[in-house]
Amino acid sequence: MERVLHFIDGAFVPSEDGRTFDNLNPATGERIGTVAEGGRAEIDKAVRAARRAFRTWSRTTAQERAAILHRIANLIEENLEELALLETTDTGKPLSLAKSLDIPRSAYNFRFFADFVKGLSTETFEMEGVALNYALRRPVGVAGLISPWNLPLFLLTWKVAPCLAAGNTCVIKPAELTPTTATKLAEICKQAGVPDGVVNVVHGFGPDAAGQFLTEHEDVDLISLTGETTTGKAVMRSAASTLKRLSFELGGKNPNIVFADCDFEDAIATTVRSSFVNQGEVCLCGSRIYVERPLYDRFVEALVDRARKLRVGDPLDPQTDVGSLISEEHLERVHGFVRRAVEQGGRVLVGGKRPEHLKRGAFYEPTVIVDVDETCEITRQEVFGPVVTVQPFDTEEEVIRLANDTHYGLSATLWTSNLKRAHRVAGELEAGVIWVNTWFLRDLRTPFGGMKQSGIGREGGVHSFEFFTELKNVCIKL
Ligand code: NAD
Repeated sequence: MERVLHFIDGAFVPSEDGRTFDNLNPATGERIGTVAEGGRAEIDKAVRAARRAFRTWSRTTAQERAAILHRIANLIEENLEELALLETTDTGKPLSLAKSLDIPRSAYNFRFFADFVKGLSTETFEMEGVALNYALRRPVGVAGLISPWNLPLFLLTWKVAPCLAAGNTCVIKPAELTPTTATKLAEICKQAGVPDGVVNVVHGFGPDAAGQFLTEHEDVDLISLTGETTTGKAVMRSAASTLKRLSFELGGKNPNIVFADCDFEDAIATTVRSSFVNQGEVCLCGSRIYVERPLYDRFVEALVDRARKLRVGDPLDPQTDVGSLISEEHLERVHGFVRRAVEQGGRVLVGGKRPEHLKRGAFYEPTVIVDVDETCEITRQEVFGPVVTVQPFDTEEEVIRLANDTHYGLSATLWTSNLKRAHRVAGELEAGVIWVNTWFLRDLRTPFGGMKQSGIGREGGVHSFEFFTELKNVCIKL
């Protein structure tokens, strides 16, 4: 996509002042095209259009909205090849992953919320002989939807679908590094019959730019953000003056706990995936691996061996397991963490550098680091790259303490064949999402979100509608 424009009130438009920025393919370093850089004027126009459209869209029935959402899902599926290629060119992720995960899940997000909204109910309380109370669910208004670059369309549609299903309108601010699939989604929405103004897309940056202007805007009612924890803090500050409703899905430093009684093959194969899929650029990746001491040496050896065998390279090659990181700048950041881990006594068993066979692009080898402890930066900060640490542990109490010793609380994984232990440890771990003997297995009806500084609120199933609707109680005297 050579020229990426905003989508405001049903039309593709450049910025009023003509400003643009470059979109780069991180796997080649080449310029893909230019992106319109939105500012206050574009956010204002988009919010006005969304407010106007809200008057009619909020009065459509759930059945009508669901039919449109299903049409969007169909069109995403029909355009799978193009969308997957756009996603890969923007992010550097393997095309095979975009085709098998990002785009199919984006279509499913629309299908899921289209069906879910039709069965949505509210509560009734009868005060016998005195009064009858019932709650009505109503859309909230104009939503600002701010998304990250790691799973661009996947995570954006996770917001857009319930937002529209509930009868709200929106202004989307996609990540500046991955603007193209959001733009294609706008085109698809129009084709599917979404009325003008219901979905708007404004491109641009975050702080003191389009993102911040959206969160400050007095006519925006709610903000759903997926991004870094520091971004959540900034958005909370700028949304405070207008007291917006907020839903935050933020960073993680997720523990992956392996007990010696686990199914070894299952645990190691899944750990390779939970460490390195999408170049480790998934908020749910298990970047802190704790292995019970009797299994430690065997587990580390197998992990290192399999990490070494992962094929890092051209995202378009179907044989590629690990593509490029999102940018050169991010690669430097990831490498900085590895360098400082070594300075703090860590030992890199595999990776820790750019692959020698690739002469260009932001590629980084899958990296396993040992001999670190809970005082090291690498075990405390989110790296958001293909880098994991492995530490041994001796007791259940010790590993629970280590796992919870963080201000993050997004997800946790544990491996054991002892059912009692699984329940016990799952109950103790401080994380919003806990997997036992699996990882990234998602039922969209379940609550998804983080504890502590990994987020605010839950999305998924009815929880998305708790955020995207207002409940009002009607009390009728009998
Ligand atoms: P980021 O926070 O840098 O950016 C996310 C979005 O916020 C972008 O669109 C950006 O332009 C915008 N933004 C940045 N500063 C802003 C501001 N002051 N006001 C308004 N908008 C602003 O995050 P990223 O680098 O794109 O994504 C990686 C981060 O996202 C990681 O921390 C990762 O863990 C997190 N993440 C969390 C989840 C989850 O479900 N919890 C999922 C994916 C990614």
